[in-house]
Amino acid sequence: MKSHARVVVIGGGVVGASVLYHLTKAGWKDVLLIERAELTSGSTWHAAGGMHTVNGDPNVAKLQQYTIKLYQEIERISGQSCGVHITGGIMLAGTPARVDWLKMAQARGRYLGMDLELISVDEAAKLFPLMEKKHFLGAMYDPIEGHVDPYGVTHAYAKSAQIGGAEIVRQTRVSDLAQRPDGTWDVITERGNVHAEHVVNAAGLWAREVGRMVGLELPVLAMEHQYLITGDMPQLVGKKEQMHCIDFEGEIYVRQERGGMLMGTYERAGVPWSESTTPWDFGQDLLPNDLERIAPSLEVGFEHFPALGPAGIKKVVNGPFTFAPDGNPLIGPVKGLKNFWVACGVMAGFSQGGGVGLSLAHWMVDGDPGADVWAMDVARYGDWATLAYTNAKVRENYSRRFSIRFPNEELPAARPLRTTPVYEKLQAEHAVFGDYCGFEHPLWFAPSAAEATDIVSWRRSNAHAHVAAECRAVHETAGLLEISNYGKFEVRGPGAAEWLSRVMANRIPKIGKIVLTPMLNDRGKLIGDFTICRVSEEHFFLIGTYAAEQFYLRWFERSLPPSGVTVRPCAVEYVGLSVAGPNSRALLQDLVREDLSTAAFPFMSFRRVDVGMVPTYMGRVSFTGELGYEMWVTTDYQRALYDLLQKAGREYGLKSFGGRALNSLRIEKSFGTWAREYRPIYGPYEAGLGRFVDLQKPDFIGRTAALDERARGGELRLLTFTVAATDADALGDEPIWHDGKAVGWVTSGAYGFRVGQSLALGYVPAGLAAAESGFEIEIIGERRKAVPQKAAPVDPQGLLMRT
Ligand SMILES: Cc1cc2nc3c(=O)[nH]c(=O)nc-3n(C[C@H](O)[C@H](O)[C@H](O)COP(=O)(O)OP(=O)(O)OC[C@H]3O[C@@H](n4cnc5c(N)ncnc54)[C@H](O)[C@@H]3O)c2cc1C
Repeated sequence: MKSHARVVVIGGGVVGASVLYHLTKAGWKDVLLIERAELTSGSTWHAAGGMHTVNGDPNVAKLQQYTIKLYQEIERISGQSCGVHITGGIMLAGTPARVDWLKMAQARGRYLGMDLELISVDEAAKLFPLMEKKHFLGAMYDPIEGHVDPYGVTHAYAKSAQIGGAEIVRQTRVSDLAQRPDGTWDVITERGNVHAEHVVNAAGLWAREVGRMVGLELPVLAMEHQYLITGDMPQLVGKKEQMHCIDFEGEIYVRQERGGMLMGTYERAGVPWSESTTPWDFGQDLLPNDLERIAPSLEVGFEHFPALGPAGIKKVVNGPFTFAPDGNPLIGPVKGLKNFWVACGVMAGFSQGGGVGLSLAHWMVDGDPGADVWAMDVARYGDWATLAYTNAKVRENYSRRFSIRFPNEELPAARPLRTTPVYEKLQAEHAVFGDYCGFEHPLWFAPSAAEATDIVSWRRSNAHAHVAAECRAVHETAGLLEISNYGKFEVRGPGAAEWLSRVMANRIPKIGKIVLTPMLNDRGKLIGDFTICRVSEEHFFLIGTYAAEQFYLRWFERSLPPSGVTVRPCAVEYVGLSVAGPNSRALLQDLVREDLSTAAFPFMSFRRVDVGMVPTYMGRVSFTGELGYEMWVTTDYQRALYDLLQKAGREYGLKSFGGRALNSLRIEKSFGTWAREYRPIYGPYEAGLGRFVDLQKPDFIGRTAALDERARGGELRLLTFTVAATDADALGDEPIWHDGKAVGWVTSGAYGFRVGQSLALGYVPAGLAAAESGFEIEIIGERRKAVPQKAAPVDPQGLLMRT
């Protein structure tokens, strides 16, 4: 084994092998993979090898398409067969809600270039004669589903990597990792040490153990998963290979395996495996079968696919594989650990392994994953994703693998976990809470405890009328919103202003002022949107998205000078309440000594203000687009502030409102938000944030690319549409049609109560930015007329906020 390598990849499962291949493809040849046993000695070995392109996140779906196309390439390079069987696949719907889900999945596939087709039950039965028609209402056909040979795929990646210059060492366990002061790593193995610039944790079932070698607790848990293979079936003799089939309501997947059928299930009562540590002596082993546990699903399976029963069970496989709490992979660099990368939690290695390898290799070689990998970024989890939290969420996710998640559905596991001091007070107001990074936050308020529940639906729900009343109050009198779940950072030091000016695209505010700013990466793409509040010469607050806290901190650490600036996350230390609406000033004026008039405390001001006895940082700003104020206090003061505002608010028609109303209000103002309108695939001019990019500044990250985007105009444009919707509004990810072609996609949608219109925000090609007609947005299979708006539907000049 060599003693030095540019990269050591730990783990020779499908993911590690893919990372290795993609590193060589990206030009890094001095790369070494170290495998504890033989290649595939983790979950890869006993996988069913199924692959498909459909994924809830369109960006992950694109990487799945990439993975499936890649098999030809690695077969060609390596000469190793991947055992690819492209059989096509059908997804069966057993309920009307599932039929709607299929319609939406098909619609999303349109702008991803996927060829998905909705078909009738009769058509489905022609394609997949083993199904019993009476259990189903409809189906979707995907021509590029199928299965591969896990051994073949892993070895094809590995051989291709070796041909590209990589080395692979087997039967060698990495037992520890030690970082040198210069950020390089000593990879300690049973057969000597390797000095490496970079280390990749692709240890699959042992990802937690390898993480712990560097003090990292990765939110990953393995679940037992069982599938069975039937005896040979006469129905299959002399026929074309059967398709892949997912029976969502039956919670069953089936495909042909030689002369029989393979049937697997994600059972409700799933069982985790090795909950806190994975034994090192587990290898190409199987777990004992527990058919009883999956018996309810098997019964359904044999009813829905009756020919399988008489064939008998030839073999049962029970093997563990890992999941992150939301079921998506965990990839990327890790904050605070220079040159340490992860590629783990990959639960669908044969659909996602290629995309994971590609993105990680680009990230390592070019400093950027080259695609929008937010949904897979390890930085989406913070310290709150503990082992026990992960355990609860992974079990839930596993048991719901084939369940519909409705847009207004909040999942119950691991809740309530993080609550703010006013939680019980909001409960007493019949708040319906949502879960955001483990935080409970109010979504809407019901008139009574009995009504405080979401009835899940694709369409406007039981909350609609109550959200309408909340929006009305914000527009006509005043609304009170808890805003604790925003991300917050305190930036201090003599170099703070200079550093912020380099990291953020807009100018830095004067003392007592607020500035909104995008944050760009080197390619000039949006990687954040912030409110910068300046307290004093050397003291700033940054307010942004809490879910991206780790992501931001990781980015900041790249450019922070060794001294002169400190950045401290303080989201949990400062909780917040906001008052918005025409009466908000009068209400607050009764409680504070400062003059809150526009002349004295104009829009975008920020100061220390005592509200009654409560010391706050107060900003005159509101995401609602109304006159409004945000108040930040340390947690010990939040109850007092809440009581004070509620009491004073009685006279002013103050009503609590929640996240659903806020979403509607911000869309009416064409205000975008992180992870919806603002993502690393968009530039600031495309996203309509050009006015917040200060090109007069001589130097900031992404400036050159931003200049270029401005000159060329970018490729996309974010537009606001009114939509001729009936009982269902756009949610996000629906296709936008123009003159009969799917040209773009919706990023957010809601009913706008102030304008009495259904609204959507979405991207279209820049060439269509000026088109005034011809647009449609597809909502649950119906194309609805959509009219682009020249300006925000509510208060386009922003007078409400400013006066
Ligand atoms: C029953 C079953 C059915 C499945 N069906 C499918 C399916 O149909 N389709 C699909 O896409 N996915 C399926 N999967 C999931 C799939 O197997 C995983 O997504 C995939 O195997 C993950 O690969 P990996 O490389 O991340 O991890 P692993 O396969 O676990 O590989 C990790 C490797 O790292 C090595 N390693 C760990 N620690 C060290 C160390 N310290 N030093 C050196 N080496 C180390 C291990 O020996 C192992 O070889 C299934 C899984 C199971 C169990």
